[in-house]
Amino acid sequence: MPTTPASCETLWTHAQLATMREDGNAYGMVNDGAVAINDGEICWLGPSADVPDWVSESAREIVDCRGQLVTPGLIDCHTHLVYGGDRVNEFEQRLKGASYEEIARAGGGIKATVNATREGTAESLYAAARSRLHSLMEEGVTTIEIKSGYGLNTDTEIKMLEVARELGDKNPVDIVTTFLGAHATPPEYAGREDEYIDYLCDETLPLIASLGLADQVDAFCERIAFSTQQVTKIFSVAQRLGLPLKLHAEQLSDSKGALRAANMGALSVDHLEYLAPEDVPVLKAHGTAAVLLPGAFYFLRETKLPPIDALREAGVPMAIASDSNPGSSPVGSLLLMLSMASRYFQLTPEECLAGVTLNAAKALGLDTQAGSLEVGKLANLVLWNITNPAELSYGIGYNPCRKVMYRGSVR
Ligand SMILES: [Zn+2]
Repeated sequence: MPTTPASCETLWTHAQLATMREDGNAYGMVNDGAVAINDGEICWLGPSADVPDWVSESAREIVDCRGQLVTPGLIDCHTHLVYGGDRVNEFEQRLKGASYEEIARAGGGIKATVNATREGTAESLYAAARSRLHSLMEEGVTTIEIKSGYGLNTDTEIKMLEVARELGDKNPVDIVTTFLGAHATPPEYAGREDEYIDYLCDETLPLIASLGLADQVDAFCERIAFSTQQVTKIFSVAQRLGLPLKLHAEQLSDSKGALRAANMGALSVDHLEYLAPEDVPVLKAHGTAAVLLPGAFYFLRETKLPPIDALREAGVPMAIASDSNPGSSPVGSLLLMLSMASRYFQLTPEECLAGVTLNAAKALGLDTQAGSLEVGKLANLVLWNITNPAELSYGIGYNPCRKVMYRGSVR
């Protein structure tokens, strides 16, 4: 139990507190609730009528939320925010009728992003990613995961992760970095995928780990990317280095990557349109979260749905993320993902909000410190201009975010 401090800095009162703690109430709701903050953490929480004297007498700032909604800071647990260039010309060419092959032959696709990322300076990558970051932050996002994976060589993967770290150092937001060297095979290793995996295992990943640049390790397991055997190889190195795992799995086919990742104790498996319902209990058994990415589902005009009913019945934590990337999910709004998750995947508004708070924290291994409003957790809070949390999934293109507190300070 955290010790009760003798004083608090800030008190928010008269709020509809959607705590998202798992207490049996929908949204963990506290009607007419109050939350007290001290030293960047929540030090008291409960009904406004029960605020203890030590809180009300010591609070230096009291904010009357006038009955409006307060939620935990939102968490975007799967993004590719740092990259060079864009793919807007390719988007336009495709809509004019060009085929994937024609675009690939003209140097498009992921190859274009890899080239632009290799050529980009750290400064230019930072500036482009910062504007995408701010668009997410304006909707109350206080934690964002950012992957490498457009460098595909040691120097550029390091450059991407350094830019991601710098975004966290210079902006009021927590950044979780993920090494995704096994995202695609770079042109210089074409046809030699095993050699590329050996290069990542022997050189790139150990160096990145020694520099402390990655908090976790991801890979893309798919017919067009890497096999479960290749993924297992890089995951084994990650485990030796003490780095948690996650996997892009079952996006285009059922290659049993999610099963392998869960059996290796992965924090999350992501995409999952082709996950077999009978494999879902393995995710539950290993505490692996399912990260759903409705932006990519939408942008690629996918029609195969992830096995939502099986995930729900098994009690697998379902997270929702933007998958913000130039090729398959050029998304700058996490709230739009709630709308898409509710309409395409039939998630309830409560499941949608849990997907970008507590369950997103679980997908990042951060649920002991973030993702819900509870005493002892980080004071990451959003005050919204609405009263009903279902409005966050219902509205399309609105941003009702009024005030964001990050680690105890309003930003
Ligand atoms: Zn992704």
